Amino acid sequence: MKRKACAEVGIKSFDVDLPEQVSEADLVKQVHELNVNPDIHGILVQLPLPRHINEEKVLTEISLEKDVDGFHPLNIGKLSMKGREPLFVPCTPKGCLELLHRSGVSIKGKKAVVVGRSNIVGLPVSMLLLKEDATVTIVHSRTSEPERIIREADIVIAAAGQPMMVKGSWIKPGAAVIDVGTNAVDDPTKKSGYRLVGDVDFEEASKVAGWITPVPGGVGPMTVTMLLQNTLEGAKRKLEQSN
Ligand code: NDP
Repeated sequence: MKRKACAEVGIKSFDVDLPEQVSEADLVKQVHELNVNPDIHGILVQLPLPRHINEEKVLTEISLEKDVDGFHPLNIGKLSMKGREPLFVPCTPKGCLELLHRSGVSIKGKKAVVVGRSNIVGLPVSMLLLKEDATVTIVHSRTSEPERIIREADIVIAAAGQPMMVKGSWIKPGAAVIDVGTNAVDDPTKKSGYRLVGDVDFEEASKVAGWITPVPGGVGPMTVTMLLQNTLEGAKRKLEQSN
């Protein structure tokens, strides 16, 4: 998807495919080579990495100026601090905010509930909502009575990876619902034997919500689009610096 989208907009992209047994040192060496290549404006290390490789170490080695996934600890750190701006914002959270902005959903002073607290979605999207003055509650696997909390939300971002966990009856009428979850469930009627569903029961929730994103076709394409946008921003920044 990422490769196809790059080709469509005229961004050159290429893969460095490494075997699963690659050593951490060799992977880091690859990252360093891409860091110093002036023709490259964005680097992303496709996650998850094999178990023998320390993800944090590898992500820290990506040049901050080329961290188009926004997962460098310094970028995440700045995202979490008042008055600081990261060079790049992670793509899926950025896409969620873009969907809210473009749909005219106001965020300031609203109650937002984020389901999930992962480094790549739940946590950064919570920080973005906080920066835009929402009152944010994070629901995770140890939260008791999630439905009671979600029912109060003006904005729900579901990123738990639990198929159709959020029921229609959990949604406040008129709420904006962004469904990040992408879960494969068995479906013998499909040639592939499965279909993708979100973390929200779309059929039920769409009858109550003011706005709702489908799965597939909602957050997924936005994530890819934000990756292109981050890459373009990185390239522009580089150009401005060299002028
Ligand atoms: P993770 O598995 O890393 O994190 C899931 C989070 O959800 C954890 O914080 C976990 O809590 C929480 N959680 C799990 N079960 C429950 C539950 N029953 N109730 C409340 N919280 C729960 O997943 P990711 O953040 O990487 O991804 C989440 C979903 O989003 C997945 O379906 C993934 O495929 C999808 N995704 C989609 C993208 C897109 O572009 N459309 C991009 C990235 C992800 P705890 O911390 O307590 O374990």
